[in-house]
Amino acid sequence: MDGVEHASTEVVSWVPTLLEQISQSFEVAEPQDILSWASTTFGDKMTLGTAFGVSGMVLIDMAMKVCKEVDVFYIDTGLFFPETYELIERAEKRYGVRFRRLTPELSVEGQAQAHGARLWEKDSNKCCSMRKVVPLSQAVRGHTAWVTGLRRDQSPTRRHTPVVQWNKKHQLVKIAPLANWTEKDVWTYALKHDVPYNPLHNQGFPSIGCKPCTRAVRPGEDLRAGRWSGSDKTECGLHL
Ligand code: SF4
Repeated sequence: MDGVEHASTEVVSWVPTLLEQISQSFEVAEPQDILSWASTTFGDKMTLGTAFGVSGMVLIDMAMKVCKEVDVFYIDTGLFFPETYELIERAEKRYGVRFRRLTPELSVEGQAQAHGARLWEKDSNKCCSMRKVVPLSQAVRGHTAWVTGLRRDQSPTRRHTPVVQWNKKHQLVKIAPLANWTEKDVWTYALKHDVPYNPLHNQGFPSIGCKPCTRAVRPGEDLRAGRWSGSDKTECGLHL
């Protein structure tokens, strides 16, 4: 038993270094090649998480084309814009799949009863933790690789996103095939391949999350400036 435990500790200790090397080698690779590698390497132990922003939609489109099979999940906080729910339906029809839907333990009404109405105004970290972070742990459980639509140009906090990295919290490989792509790159792909996208993107919302915590951005603002506007919060905690 001691031997087995020791061996597994050894594996985990060299994996991050190996992934760093793989990540470096992917710095100039196309996202489709990175996805293809991930799919071949991790098979049905790979999962792709999305909140249906344009990056996520582009990633889904690519994955449907280059991966033999792909599990796509999302966390339905119950507080999406109606346009987002409509997009999910449209995308499921377009690709002929059902995305895996995770929900928080408490409904929006249940949360209001237990923690007070409009918790996002009083304690957005607690709200994100219950409605997003806890369901994420359930979503990735049993998987060895988690593909995300993170891009370095989205915000200063994402500027150093590796293409491939070891995620200690969830004990899996985290992959960002679009890390090196820009907003322009994803839109060029989306329009060229007729990828379904959220109409709110055309109304000043480059980043779309829960309705109570998202506003349109003003010219010159950061792409994620409309998220938790008026507070210092910049991330919901899924990628911290
Ligand atoms: S983004 Fe806002 S409403 Fe959504 S889970 Fe976080 S705090 Fe709650």
